[in-house]
Amino acid sequence: MNKTTLGIIGGGQLGSFLADAAKKIDVKTVILSDDPDAPGKHFSTKFIYGEYDDKVTINNFINEVDLVTYEFENIPFTILKKINEKKEVLPKPEINKLIQHRKTEKNFLNENNIITTKYVTIKNEKDLNDNTNLLPGLLKTTTLGYDGKGQYKLESLEDLNSEIDFSKEYILEKLINIKKEISVVVTRYEKNNYEIYEPIENVHEDQILKYSVIPSNISEDILKKTMKWAKKVAEKLDYIGTLCVEFFIDEDDNLYANEVAPRVHNSGHLTMNSHNISQFENHVRAVCGLERIETKKIYNAKMINLIGDDITLYRNKTFNDNEFFYDYLKKEIKNKRKMGHITIIEK
Ligand code: ADP
Ligand code: MG
Repeated sequence: MNKTTLGIIGGGQLGSFLADAAKKIDVKTVILSDDPDAPGKHFSTKFIYGEYDDKVTINNFINEVDLVTYEFENIPFTILKKINEKKEVLPKPEINKLIQHRKTEKNFLNENNIITTKYVTIKNEKDLNDNTNLLPGLLKTTTLGYDGKGQYKLESLEDLNSEIDFSKEYILEKLINIKKEISVVVTRYEKNNYEIYEPIENVHEDQILKYSVIPSNISEDILKKTMKWAKKVAEKLDYIGTLCVEFFIDEDDNLYANEVAPRVHNSGHLTMNSHNISQFENHVRAVCGLERIETKKIYNAKMINLIGDDITLYRNKTFNDNEFFYDYLKKEIKNKRKMGHITIIEK
């Protein structure tokens, strides 16, 4: 029996899968969530409900665990830093701080010669007027955005509307003519010690991931470059655990890094069925300092996200032996909410 108890902040599907992977390798887990109905409570050894900024809750959590990781990046840095004074937080809080802000994230990538789309900070309408060279573009909030939330497409300044709240800070990003979206999931154990998954091809609908496939249909050159860049990101961040780098390929085959997720990633869900070791197990192994096991693909696979009502079609369905259905057990079905997924392996 392993002696480590891993604390996980966040009890959504990512936290659930982390806890499930931990169970298989005898690592105990405590999930902390601000949602009393978080799906993670069905998977972790222990579940603590409370607000992330509540001292008593945080202390209870810290006392139960040996180290802490997180399933989402939008936790205030000050909270992670406080926890880290008592129990180690991995990935390091400073990494989270850098990545959770779209501008510092993109600056970091460019400083390391990793190409991104062109972008500029926007604080008010005047900044937009001064940067019309980036139109058509996407205006994105610098913090707290996910699944396309907090994003506005601007063909021209005429598309500005009252929904856009300039008390928030934005970046304006040049719109790319996307041919393909790719992601690379990598788990770094220590310096130059990795498990890296092959590039995953992703299709989005309404800016939300709809499905993911391996192998991706890309050139050898692009494949190598995406994997090289993903490793470089992990190395430069001195990262421990699983991260994901999202990429765009445009119509002229230019490659751009879009964003970094300092955590396990939706596109990596297929690794639970396609590989001997999933992105979740690799994350738990890396942060807990356990043995790294050579990660190999067993099957090609496709993962389909079940969003909103999609889930109802699957709950009573019978599946073939190459189909794996995951119900996130969320209490309420909501429009655009990720409710589950199905992975189909190619046998
Ligand atoms: P989120 O944090 O919501 O995932 P992203 O920056 O990844 O934000 O954007 C979500 C999706 O919107 C992307 O996967 C892509 O499909 C589309 N998108 C984002 N930025 C651009 C861009 N500059 N040009 C074209 N499409 C984009
Ligand atoms: Mg994204």
